[in-house]
Amino acid sequence: MTTNTFGEVSWDSSDFGDKKVNSKDLFLRLDDGDNEVRLVTAPYQYLVHRYKKEGDPGFGQKVQCSASHGSCPLCDTGDKAKRRWLLGVIERKKGTYKILDISYAVFGQIQKYAKNAAHWGDPTKYDLNIVVDKNGGATGYYSVQPVPKSPLSATDQDIKDKADLDDLKRRVTPPDAATVQRRLDKINGAVVPGSNGSTVKTAVKSTPAVSLAADEEMDAEFPDYNGTTA
Ligand SMILES: [Zn+2]
Repeated sequence: MTTNTFGEVSWDSSDFGDKKVNSKDLFLRLDDGDNEVRLVTAPYQYLVHRYKKEGDPGFGQKVQCSASHGSCPLCDTGDKAKRRWLLGVIERKKGTYKILDISYAVFGQIQKYAKNAAHWGDPTKYDLNIVVDKNGGATGYYSVQPVPKSPLSATDQDIKDKADLDDLKRRVTPPDAATVQRRLDKINGAVVPGSNGSTVKTAVKSTPAVSLAADEEMDAEFPDYNGTTA
């Protein structure tokens, strides 16, 4: 599922890359209450730190870990990266393809159904209702309920066939240490040399490497809830 942005095109081509979806819109934000989805890809795992610059009263920003390249500036500070997963899903409210970014709080529950081969098994064979209870506290914030098995409709199957696995792969590919450092400098508002030779004060509000997911706040509020970290 690639949209050509360069190379040979035909004269009657009307595809000017207008299908480019804003990353923010591509990620599913879970609503309070029911969120029915159908997984259409395997989980894509990545490691991420939550970095808060000094004085940040908020939840900080996600910075992917570069340890697999040999070193990571944030691991060096003693921070432990956490595992998260991206999943391609069909969200049932609008019936569109979305990327769901989950922590272990959700992953672990889906895994239980996946391992329950006698009754559920492969979690792409049925819908899942991810129920968000914002007052549910650490253990009740997310509950994942399976919806009885049903085959994909033709439209579903089409969405599944077109799921951009390369995109998921790219999003979970760890950056190298230098890239992580640049991200940190940016978040810290470090003065970096501008292209015109002058210096540019980088805006503190940099775009996160991976879009924030609905459970960002949750993870920050209950940092010790990640039963399993890398
Ligand atoms: Zn790291």
